[in-house]
Amino acid sequence: MTPDSRTDMIVSINPSTLEEVGRVPHTHPEDVPDLVQKAREAYPAWRDKGIDARIEIMKRAQDLLLKQAEEIAELITLEMGRPFTEALTVEVEASVDLLYYDWKHAHRFLRNRRVWLHHPFFMLRKSYIHCQPLGVLTNITPWNWPLLIPLGVIGPALLSGNAMLFKPSEYTPLTGDRIRDLFIQAGVPEDIFINLHGSSEVGQALVFSDTEKVFFTGSTNVGQIVMEQGAPSLKKIVLELGGHDPAIVCEDADVDISSSGVLWGAMNNCGQNCNGIERVYMHENVADRFTDLLVEKTQKLRIGDGMDPDTDIGPLATELQFEKILSVVQHAQKSGMEILTGGNPIQDKKGYYFEPTVIRCDPSGPEIPDDEAFGPVVFVRSVQDDVEAIRLANDSQFGLAGSVWTSNSRHGQRIAQQIESGSVMVNDSVCSFGITEAGWTGIKKSGVGWMHGEKGLDEMVNMQFINIDTNSKSQNFWWFPYGPDVLKGIRVGMTLLFDRNWFKKLATLPAILCHLAGYLLINRKQSKKL
Ligand code: NAD
Repeated sequence: MTPDSRTDMIVSINPSTLEEVGRVPHTHPEDVPDLVQKAREAYPAWRDKGIDARIEIMKRAQDLLLKQAEEIAELITLEMGRPFTEALTVEVEASVDLLYYDWKHAHRFLRNRRVWLHHPFFMLRKSYIHCQPLGVLTNITPWNWPLLIPLGVIGPALLSGNAMLFKPSEYTPLTGDRIRDLFIQAGVPEDIFINLHGSSEVGQALVFSDTEKVFFTGSTNVGQIVMEQGAPSLKKIVLELGGHDPAIVCEDADVDISSSGVLWGAMNNCGQNCNGIERVYMHENVADRFTDLLVEKTQKLRIGDGMDPDTDIGPLATELQFEKILSVVQHAQKSGMEILTGGNPIQDKKGYYFEPTVIRCDPSGPEIPDDEAFGPVVFVRSVQDDVEAIRLANDSQFGLAGSVWTSNSRHGQRIAQQIESGSVMVNDSVCSFGITEAGWTGIKKSGVGWMHGEKGLDEMVNMQFINIDTNSKSQNFWWFPYGPDVLKGIRVGMTLLFDRNWFKKLATLPAILCHLAGYLLINRKQSKKL
């Protein structure tokens, strides 16, 4: 991204060639309140349109996405460099599935949910949760998954009747506009889905603006700033933030398969996945064989322009990321860690290319730094046993995802349940983000709140509790006036309901009957007066 001050445009740059892909007008932060107002005015009609009409629009959006799949995948590759094969599968295919899943289950997820009440005072009442749209929502997203991440919010937000202000990353603005076009073509009113372009200043203006909720996906540092910005107005905020995911390779793992799986988990999308594998803890009995295979396979990866179908790894998406990875490697070298392969920028290519890198961390030396690298760099370290692996895996400020590699799935599950993270995969990694039923969340400094699945839809609505006393002709005993009789009734009632001694319970019966009779008498007199 290059903000062009002469034209007030944001220029999208292809990280493979450093050539311009296209440009979009910059949004002025001072225009944000008017844009919010536009969405707010359009919102009631969209809310009242009804779920069936919105489902039809989502079906059309799904059809359009499928029809334009190749063009959109190409745009993703051009704007952020990931191989076209990945863009078509993990971005477009997964997004089509996400839209399909959302509209298919919208009725079930957004229906009124009956709440059965156990308490004798309330059990005859009708109660349910009503899913009420929130209003105008903000969606701020990163560049690393420029389609699937935004759609994880946009689909459910629109389906449930909200309006949306969407700020795609300043590095992938054209994909952001393409997403909006798709929904507008499908029938979403123009002011219900508004795009804004810019970087932190536009993001900040959005967080400060009068929207009901912010869905932010990005780095932990910026997520913390967003939370601070939202605090004075107690803004509802969902944060999907950084990760530094561990992989545990057990003694019983098939080292050939698991080294291929870990390689993909660490290096796909040039390692620029929030849930990419960054740290590998290998049982000491398989560590050498596993490391040798990982290094050998890393060296065979084909690096190049993502539009070439033979490319496994494209460039880093931004110059900033390129510099960050360089400094991660230099820091590891300085602290005495061994670079087993890679470690250098690729000089003979024009874009932000960096060699896929494996770094060995000696158990007697400094530990793997607890910071997200977000690039084609993976640290490996041997451990004595599962206990040490789990301890090191959990010794992190992050808690997004993790993986366990083993030939015994029970063993894998036992370890998985001890990893402190939002999700864990056994014998695979990364792709749980594309499993639509699975809610997505991070613990520790990896996030707050949910995306995807039923829990993701819950985030889009006010889960309003409605309780109906169908008997409108009598008054409840806990209403005014208070008095000694009421107090006595409460004491007796508490014993009857909650005392676990049956003799004490039975002893309350005469008093209860007496009270009940009095209560019915008062209510009869009152209803006669009415
Ligand atoms: P980033 O935090 O720099 O930017 C994310 C978005 O926030 C961009 O649109 C940016 O313009 C905007 N922004 C920047 N400053 C802002 C501010 N002060 N107020 C409001 N908005 C602001 O992140 P990035 O470099 O675009 O993306 C990479 C990061 O995203 C990594 O840390 C990665 O782990 C994380 N990520 C997390 C998930 C997840 O689901 N947990 C998914 C993808 C990426």
